[in-house]
Amino acid sequence: MRFDTFVMVDWSGGNDRGPTPVKDAIWACVAGQDPIYFRNRQLVEVWLADLLETEISAGRRVLAGFDFPFGYPAGFGKAVAGPDDPFALWQWFAEHISDTPKANNRFDVAATLNSMFAGIGPFWGNGLSRDIAGLPRKGLARTANPFAERRQVETHAKGSFTCWQLSGAGAVGSQVMMGLPMLHRLRESFAADLSVWPFEAPDTPVVIAEIWPSLSMGDCPANMIKDAYQVQLTANHFAQMQAYDLAQLMNITAPVEGWILGVPQPKTKRPPPLRNDCFAMPQGAYWTPVSDAQAHLRHHLSCVVGQKPLRIQNAAGRILATDVIAKRAHPPTPNSAVDGYGFAGPADAGERQYTLLDGRSAAGAPFDGTVPVGHAIRILTGAALPSGVDTVVLQEDVVTQDDKLRFNGPLRLGANARKAGEDMTQGQTIMAAGRQLTPADLATMTAAGIGRVAVKRRLRVGVLSTGDELAQAGENARADQIYDANRPMLCAIANAWGHKVIDLGCAPDDRAALREILNRSAAKCDVILTSGGASAGDEDHMSALLKGTGSLALWRIAMKPGRPLALGLWRDTPVLGLPGNPVAAMVCALVFGRPALNVLAGGAWVTPQGYRVPAGFAKSKKAGRREYIRAHIEDGKVVAFASEGSGRVSGLSWATGLVELGDAAQTTALGDLVRFIPFTEFGL
Ligand code: AMP
Ligand code: MG
Repeated sequence: MRFDTFVMVDWSGGNDRGPTPVKDAIWACVAGQDPIYFRNRQLVEVWLADLLETEISAGRRVLAGFDFPFGYPAGFGKAVAGPDDPFALWQWFAEHISDTPKANNRFDVAATLNSMFAGIGPFWGNGLSRDIAGLPRKGLARTANPFAERRQVETHAKGSFTCWQLSGAGAVGSQVMMGLPMLHRLRESFAADLSVWPFEAPDTPVVIAEIWPSLSMGDCPANMIKDAYQVQLTANHFAQMQAYDLAQLMNITAPVEGWILGVPQPKTKRPPPLRNDCFAMPQGAYWTPVSDAQAHLRHHLSCVVGQKPLRIQNAAGRILATDVIAKRAHPPTPNSAVDGYGFAGPADAGERQYTLLDGRSAAGAPFDGTVPVGHAIRILTGAALPSGVDTVVLQEDVVTQDDKLRFNGPLRLGANARKAGEDMTQGQTIMAAGRQLTPADLATMTAAGIGRVAVKRRLRVGVLSTGDELAQAGENARADQIYDANRPMLCAIANAWGHKVIDLGCAPDDRAALREILNRSAAKCDVILTSGGASAGDEDHMSALLKGTGSLALWRIAMKPGRPLALGLWRDTPVLGLPGNPVAAMVCALVFGRPALNVLAGGAWVTPQGYRVPAGFAKSKKAGRREYIRAHIEDGKVVAFASEGSGRVSGLSWATGLVELGDAAQTTALGDLVRFIPFTEFGL
């Protein structure tokens, strides 16, 4: 996160302040320079646009800070401007505010805004001598405010004023109303060259951000105006920050209300539960295509777990809660990619000769002298290039005699050398939030200087079987019983996906008992996976109970194997009711459960990679449903399990993946390419 130019602006909502520098007027300062006084907004806007133009054309990146809120408390923007988008509100103000050095309409606009809501409020602080209907002079005269008094960030910034207060010492309300139109115009004229932190990624030539100088100020020197002192100190403060630290400050989740650059964001608590209707999907006489069911889950589920910091060593398989930013460059210094001799390149064609210096540069033991032109030094793989060296010749390509080194050129400048930061630069975002960390990621992050990362807490997945016919693994079973095959399998699957598994045992086909089990389970699980009892029959108690909560959705999915999926919320905890048949239970777990659980766990919606492989079987299928066939690879062909019967558990072990046949009618002949998805692609 490197910027070259830092400019901070102390804004003002009032009228022209005259030619002599005064306090509570507009002050701006470029880091390293003197503060500048502006008697009105029109002048500073022109100055700023010129400055940004100049810096952009010189290829310099600018961070521009403004000391007023970029948004209002939650809900206000949506109520006024339509969409819940901070920039829609900026535009609204740009269209409604009129501004000249001597007069502006901010108090009337505030009254207009107040008139949009019941009661008197939220704005107050009419600073004019004339009364304005609907805009009280005092905050206590308000009768209503449908919004929060403060933005979230202001609850963390002691002493901050609210956007609703338009006049009085320290009030910021007028500045916001008179500032947002200016920001809107900057955004319009600089378009793709400008982004607004924290709403947009700060990767453009110009980034603008909200600052609050009073946060970190010492006392102002007696001979300076406080506002001038503040903008100067703030500009220099940001300019002196390490790229990494600035990137860290900018690495926050953006509320629509905006945020103050530099105020730490509080640790997120457990996110809000899912909505009771999150599984509701119109179900007609038709069967829902697999892709529609997936799309519904993808768009209606969200993360239900909090986060915590973790040492890198323990982070494999965990889901990143925030972006990760390189703490230092990799490699940190230029170094040699080979064992050889270093010198100042390039080397021209023909026989070349260099004088060898005493000493060497080895990994961890750099040579700290300078290598003069025409000289060379012994250097080993991974060793820092000494000063004067930018090129390395392989030891296999040289002859050395006494203090002379000879080889045949040419050798280009920089040959066999690694540049500092050629892999990762300091401040670069190297991993995105939501990523499930691989072993390789631990290497990448460690190389970039990271020791701890914020990860999502592990999703607690309860696994429950239902049915009076079930006997437990290893028990003696009556002839009319079958073994509970699903639970060990589903527990192992959820574990392989990286979740924390809670074995909830087996519930009888008894409504009261199942209700008790669900009550206890909901308290200790983030999501419950059940199998069996999910249809609409007499003994399908799971669907009956979920129906009672008003959250049940029975999805009839156009796929084979599979029957209805029963989805619902039990005391805010999502319940995914899988079919009872082990084959259908596993296939539904892979196709729906895996991506759904990943989203609940704070990760991405994951789609397995399929591979086109020649079919070692022939089959024709009807239109109207997707089919998953247990399959494995033999001699480069994908062969199908002998039976498609969904009671045949052994076929799951025989298979190494699934062949997916699309929804349309299809005739597959031997050798036709079909989509094979190995189980590993489902995260197993
Ligand atoms: P259900 O959805 O309860 O009607 O069950 C459908 C089929 O799956 C029935 O034949 C059940 O016996 C069987 N089944 C249900 N749960 C399990 C389980 N945990 N392990 C093995 N088979 C099961
Ligand atoms: Mg049953």
